[in-house]
Amino acid sequence: MGPLLDVQPTPLALLLLGREADPKSERGVECPGDLPSPSDPDLVARARAAKEKLGDRVFILGHHYQRDEVIEFADVTGDSFKLAREAAARPEAEYIVFCGVHFMAESADILTGPAQQVVLPDLAAGCSMADMATAEQVAECWDVLTEAGVAGTTVPVSYMNSSADIKAFTGRHGGTICTSSNAKRALDWAFAQGEKVLFLPDQHLGRNTAVRDMGLSLEDCVLYNPHKPNGGLTPRQLRDAKVILWRGHCSVHGRFSLDSVREVRERIPGVRVLVHPECKNEVVAAADEVGSTEYIIKALDAAPPGSKWAIGTELNLVRRLAKRYATEGAGNKEIAFLDKTVCFCSTMNRIDLPHLVWALESLVDGTVVNRIEVDPETEKYAKLALERMLALP
Ligand code: SF4
Repeated sequence: MGPLLDVQPTPLALLLLGREADPKSERGVECPGDLPSPSDPDLVARARAAKEKLGDRVFILGHHYQRDEVIEFADVTGDSFKLAREAAARPEAEYIVFCGVHFMAESADILTGPAQQVVLPDLAAGCSMADMATAEQVAECWDVLTEAGVAGTTVPVSYMNSSADIKAFTGRHGGTICTSSNAKRALDWAFAQGEKVLFLPDQHLGRNTAVRDMGLSLEDCVLYNPHKPNGGLTPRQLRDAKVILWRGHCSVHGRFSLDSVREVRERIPGVRVLVHPECKNEVVAAADEVGSTEYIIKALDAAPPGSKWAIGTELNLVRRLAKRYATEGAGNKEIAFLDKTVCFCSTMNRIDLPHLVWALESLVDGTVVNRIEVDPETEKYAKLALERMLALP
C-alpha cells in the first residue's frame, strides 16, 4: 500500500494558501517575505518607526474594508477609486503602499507617475469578483457578440473591481470604467454611444443600476455565463437585450439575502436597512437605502441620534462604524450588521500588521517588495477607460 499522506496539493489549494502563481488571473501569488511573527509585541512600534523613517517618501492607502490594525497606519482611507486618486495626487511619494487588494494596486499604478512604485503588502490579496472575468474569457465573449452581430452597437462598462486587463479591453472597445457611485452616469453615457451595454464583472451592480436607477426591466438584462458555450445565450437573446451582464459577483455582498432583511426588521423594530449595490437585486429592492461605502459612511454621519441601522457591506467597516457611533458623543446611533452569517472579505483580511511591517521595513532597507506594475500597453488602454470615467458628465 502506498504512503497515505503522499498527496500533492492542487493548484487551487496552493493559490488559496498564497503559495502559487496563477499567471492567467489577476489573483495574487506567493508572498516570499520573512514576515515578523503575528505575536511580536513590538509590531505596532515597528510599523510606526518604519513609517517615520520613510517620512514623505511613503504614502499608505487603506481601503475601508481593511482591518483596524492596518487602518491605523493609513494616511488616507477610502474606496478603491478615491484611493487611486489620492495616490495620483501625491507625486512626491516614491512608494505607495496599498492596503487593499490586487486590482486596486494596479489602478494606483496606472494613475501614478512612472517614478512611483506601488506595493501590495501581501500578493495573495486578490479579489474573487475581479478573478471571475479573465482577459481570455472576455475576448471570447466579444467574439460571441460579434458573431451575433451586436458587438458594433455594444459599449463595455467595467466596474472598478476588475483587473487591469479587463480595464484595457474596455478602453480598446470604446467603453468606460465605473464605480458604485457613478454607475448610473456611466450607463447613461454608454447608452448615448451605443444601443447595448456589456457590464463587467459584477452582475448585481449592473442589474441594480439598470433596473433601479435607469428604469429598465429585469427582462432587458441577460446573463452571460463565461463557463457555458456562447455564454449560455442565443444570438436572439443577445440581440433583444439592452444590458448583457457578466456572471460575476462579490463573495461577500452576494451572500446577503432577503431573509436577512426580514430577520433584522423583526429583530430591530424601526431599523433602516442600508446596503451596498453589489448585493443581489431582491436585497436591494427590500432595503431602505442603497449606496457605495462612501455613501454609507455619509448617510450614517447625517443620521439623527438614536436612529437604528442594519448595514449590508463588509464587516470590518460595519464594526468600525458601530464602534464610532456607540457613544453619546458620536451621536449614539445603533449600527447592526445585516446578516450574522456573512463574514469578512478574506482577501482584504490578508493584509495584516506583519505584512505591513515587512513591506515598510523592507523599504527602509532599500528593497521594494511586492511591487505591482502594469505593462505599458495594458496601462495605455486601461488609462483611456479610466479617463473616460473621469470625464463622465
Ligand atoms: S469585498 Fe468583494 S469586491 Fe471587495 S475585494 Fe472582497 S471579494 Fe472583491
